[in-house]
Amino acid sequence: MTDLSHLKQDFPILGSGVHFLDSGASSQKPIPVLEAMDQFARTSYANVHRGAYKLSVAATDAFEAARHRVATFINAASDDEVVFTRGTTTAINTVAFGWGLEHLQEGDVILTTEMEHHANLVPWQMVAKRTGATLDHVAIDDEGRLDMASFEDKIGPEVKIVAVTGMSNVLGTMPDVKTIARRSHEFGARVVVDAAQLVPHAGVDVQDLGADFVAFSAHKMLGPTGIGVLWGRMDALEETEPFEGGGEMIANVTLHESTWAAIPHRFEAGTPSIIEAVGLHAAIDYLDSIGMEAVLEHDKKLTAIALERLGDVPGLSIQGPKDLTDRGGVISMTMEGVHAHDLATILDENGVSVRAGHHCAKPLMKCLGVAATARASFYVYSEESDIDALEKGLRHAGELFGVS
Ligand code: PLP
Repeated sequence: MTDLSHLKQDFPILGSGVHFLDSGASSQKPIPVLEAMDQFARTSYANVHRGAYKLSVAATDAFEAARHRVATFINAASDDEVVFTRGTTTAINTVAFGWGLEHLQEGDVILTTEMEHHANLVPWQMVAKRTGATLDHVAIDDEGRLDMASFEDKIGPEVKIVAVTGMSNVLGTMPDVKTIARRSHEFGARVVVDAAQLVPHAGVDVQDLGADFVAFSAHKMLGPTGIGVLWGRMDALEETEPFEGGGEMIANVTLHESTWAAIPHRFEAGTPSIIEAVGLHAAIDYLDSIGMEAVLEHDKKLTAIALERLGDVPGLSIQGPKDLTDRGGVISMTMEGVHAHDLATILDENGVSVRAGHHCAKPLMKCLGVAATARASFYVYSEESDIDALEKGLRHAGELFGVS
């Protein structure tokens, strides 16, 4: 088991003593990421792909080096399969509006699941409305895992795209995306994976995964906000129309029509997030130096400790599976008679940062039969002392509300 306790010193914000357990929403940034962006902005910054001058060439080289770094991290077949976006949400919207509007029509089915984040649900609802396609949803089982029998029931020739999460941001469960991709392809459907949680916590080999599109955000993997990735298999990207027009994405423009630049640039209209790309590059270097297996192992170790320790906190229920099979470091909790927001506020008063609410997964909340949960989520800098503080804070909240 790799000991990651030395990493905490790389995260200046954690020096304040806060027990930060909200990495599922956004992660903290280590010094090498902050320094890489600072250094680049001080020495090499200019707009990319535009100038013939040296600074712009240096900036373009750094931007494209970041693309290459992403490609190697996820084992893309080519750098051209990596599209920079604003984040997971924009990446999925690129598929929904760029691929969905082109290829869906009445009679077609868009298959998503009951455990999706709104980012992998709402764009499909919008596209269904415009194209006449219908939406269907794979069910979750009693434990909060994706029900593969339900998937088998719903997959068929009328399904044209399957939109599935790689890891639930509420339950931590990791659907068997490889099987879903293989079976969906047997019926001719495209597969898009919301990997906002999967890539930061387990890494992804896109060629091994077998999906057509994979979306993720830098800010959840130690990088900055404002940049994310849409990976698409080249033949899937070739079937996709750009859904934003503007500078940089064209080959030629006349007053009446335009032609598109090569892939991936046709999907990157306007000035991209340049400093942020350098930050993402550094974040990947940092994660790779730990190793994604060690990252997941660390999350799982802390999850096991937390599940055991929180198991006998009076009135506390934990949503989702209690064993660690195909599960990451996310724990959603409710306490009898205590609203999730009150729970989070009391935990905050005890120095513990957790998220409370529906976590942008309202349909999943309905399936779980709760209005909201408090959610603790771990990452590489999390420690057992964070769980000590969480447990103490939860017991304190129970005492305040007279839960026994
Ligand atoms: N999908 C999942 C599973 C998430 O957890 C999140 C963020 O919370 C998103 C999508 C949206 O990511 P972003 O807000 O970075 O676009």
